[in-house]
Amino acid sequence: MSHFKFEHQKIEVGQTPTGEKHFINVIDLISNEDGPFVYIQSSVHGAELQGNMVIQKLIEYFQANPFKGRLRFVPLANPEATNHKMGQYTYGRFNPQTGHNWNRNYIDIFSPTNQKKTGFELSSFLDTLLKNNASLTYDQLIFEMKKFLLKALEKYAQFDSNYGSPAQNGRLNLELQKLASQADIVLDFHTGPIATRYIYCPEYAFDRALAFGFPHYLVIPHEFAGAMDEACFSPWVYLDDYIKSYHPSAYKSLTAERENLIHTQSFTLEFGSEEFISYIDAIKDRALVLNYLKTQGICEAWSDKSETPEIAWCPLENFKTYYSVGGGLCDYHLRPGDRFDKNDKLYTLYHLNNDYSNSPLPFQTQTVEANESGIVINHSTSSAVTLGAEVYQVMENPRFI
Ligand SMILES: [Zn+2]
Repeated sequence: MSHFKFEHQKIEVGQTPTGEKHFINVIDLISNEDGPFVYIQSSVHGAELQGNMVIQKLIEYFQANPFKGRLRFVPLANPEATNHKMGQYTYGRFNPQTGHNWNRNYIDIFSPTNQKKTGFELSSFLDTLLKNNASLTYDQLIFEMKKFLLKALEKYAQFDSNYGSPAQNGRLNLELQKLASQADIVLDFHTGPIATRYIYCPEYAFDRALAFGFPHYLVIPHEFAGAMDEACFSPWVYLDDYIKSYHPSAYKSLTAERENLIHTQSFTLEFGSEEFISYIDAIKDRALVLNYLKTQGICEAWSDKSETPEIAWCPLENFKTYYSVGGGLCDYHLRPGDRFDKNDKLYTLYHLNNDYSNSPLPFQTQTVEANESGIVINHSTSSAVTLGAEVYQVMENPRFI
């Protein structure tokens, strides 16, 4: 007998003007043994492809090895974005019709505005739940909260449905958010432009996230800025704040065995550079995910003893972007993962603005140096840059573990 069964859903997420439909595939592996619900998606930014190979390798692993709980995979989660080719390049990152970043379109479902819109008020839900259940357990709280969350998202999706489909911008995101809403762990697979491997990790989950063994950690505050990871932990941050403030004795007993009530652990994992896949690299990338899932009781010991790298981390405020000081051709002096010191040369810009009165050379040059020491996390995919274009993103004054 197999140690799991699997389910497959094909969900329509869009239609083109000529009537073709866009679908996403949702693959659930369900273990015979109870355990956490893990949600994993890739390619919400359509050019960020490596996560799909990692999903392939993870499913291969779980087909052959025991695990606990339910594992939900959504590869190629944004067909419109991945199909949007411009020449050989995949546009991918922004909705071409609205210009919005596909990973800033999720719903802050318990923001005051959205609570008014849906009528699902977290405070009255929690007041009633705690009043009617004097000895509410943590597991009961999680169970009830997940149900409430899904209903709120479904209500949001129906809002104004008399006027047609939910607006095209954000529609896909809402569908993905509903699929992830019941998960205990959410992993959103991305890549940078030309990038190293790194992870966005919320402050509350930093200690646990060290189990991944990523070389670089960006530690983000518990605030909503529209990304999937934030959309998944925000409801629980509201819940934690509210119970702590308004039901302190219940909070004390519910947190007797834990630090807080932020239940869902959600992370954005960045697997290198966009536009490419590597099946070989996916074996190493998979090891990062399995190392973490092992510590969450989902799979058995993972035996790939890849060296644990020195881990560099910084708070999000130290994740700095260097913007081009002019328009021109950019010679990048550092590669993703390179460490640099203050005043090291980051890039040289070649401006086509010579007046030719004294020299036939077309370019004036300008070299930009680092303000502080740091590590290169990513740089732009192109050497043709406009004034103010993103050139580098760096971890400034990193700390090491
Ligand atoms: Zn991305």
